[in-house]
Amino acid sequence: MSLPVCQKCQTKWSWLDTQKGLFHFNRGIKCPHCKATQYQTSSSLKRTTFIGLIPLAGLPFVIQNNSWLVKISAVIVLSLIYLSIMPFFISLSNDEEPMW
Ligand SMILES: [Zn+2]
Repeated sequence: MSLPVCQKCQTKWSWLDTQKGLFHFNRGIKCPHCKATQYQTSSSLKRTTFIGLIPLAGLPFVIQNNSWLVKISAVIVLSLIYLSIMPFFISLSNDEEPMW
């Protein structure tokens, strides 16, 4: 597990830089160091999609629980975990790769 490296200037992105870019990855994201547009590789995209499914394993527990407070906090906690580990699974490419 490591943070993504810009394929143009070979600079490692910080956790925060990657986090900011996560929401724009469909259009590519500008490197904070050299301003080149970087895209998520297709293998990285598959990886992050797969990781996104892992929190769903906790879903039966959430649904069975009668307390809304537990349901809402479980969703928030799972999303936070997901978002905070996500930058470590992303790899970058100079070109936009086909999704599948
Ligand atoms: Zn760069």
